Amino acid sequence: MNKELLEAAARSERMGHFYIFHGGSSRERREFALHLAMILNCRETEKPCYRCPSCRKIQSGNHPDVFILEPLKVSLGIEQILAWQETVYRKNYEGEYKVSLIEQADTMTTPAANALLKVVEEPPGQTVIIISAHNAERLLPTVRSRAQLLYFPELGYGPTQAGEAEPEWKEALRLSGGMHALAEEIKRHGPAKVVEWIGKFRRAVADQDFVALFPLFPVENEEASLYLQALAVELEKEIIREGGSVPALLAVREALAALQQANSRLVIEVLALRLFQQGGKIGD
Ligand SMILES: [Zn+2]
Repeated sequence: MNKELLEAAARSERMGHFYIFHGGSSRERREFALHLAMILNCRETEKPCYRCPSCRKIQSGNHPDVFILEPLKVSLGIEQILAWQETVYRKNYEGEYKVSLIEQADTMTTPAANALLKVVEEPPGQTVIIISAHNAERLLPTVRSRAQLLYFPELGYGPTQAGEAEPEWKEALRLSGGMHALAEEIKRHGPAKVVEWIGKFRRAVADQDFVALFPLFPVENEEASLYLQALAVELEKEIIREGGSVPALLAVREALAALQQANSRLVIEVLALRLFQQGGKIGD
């Protein structure tokens, strides 16, 4: 299981019921869980759209069918699981899918884990339960054996290919939002160049400085696509952390689509002009 496959499963509404997200940081795991929740519940064709009522509520933590559970005390006790269980079995309020994220799940007590497994055995329809823990080994084997595992690569410990443990790979992975295919392209291109381009582009937009854009026009559309994909990943992270600009992300997404037909220079000019009109704010 990897992020790309899981995202594809969400888009085609073929997700399983029970997942363990482990490795990486809790923030990465949460961001990806919310990303999936938005895809599952978004009503627009371009999912997630970040602006329909459902996407907005998920971003602000107010969606009645999306739950984030974390231990109230040092451990996640049965009382918390039972209270959650009640809400999960209640009829859906508005979302198509109920998505539950249980964080620091390695602090779950055994009775809590057993109560959780009861729900997993008879899940209500259209329910996705995600358990998030840094170390999956610390979860009860009964929990582990029932879930599909998604591993978030540790920074510096790429799982398969030789050389992935290099700092360059670590940086490429961060820039790609954990998408391995994109990370590989970024690594080939040079992560430092990507960071530099994004930094300069954001500064030119913030200063509304059209001339500063000139040195930023990539020759190849592939290169432009790489920069814009990494920029979109960055903006998406900022939106989920509630500091980002949704219109800016949508403009970047449209620019990416436009790259299929138009040349990169034109696409980036049009994108910059749109961002200028938005007041140059592409996040905080
Ligand atoms: Zn939406």
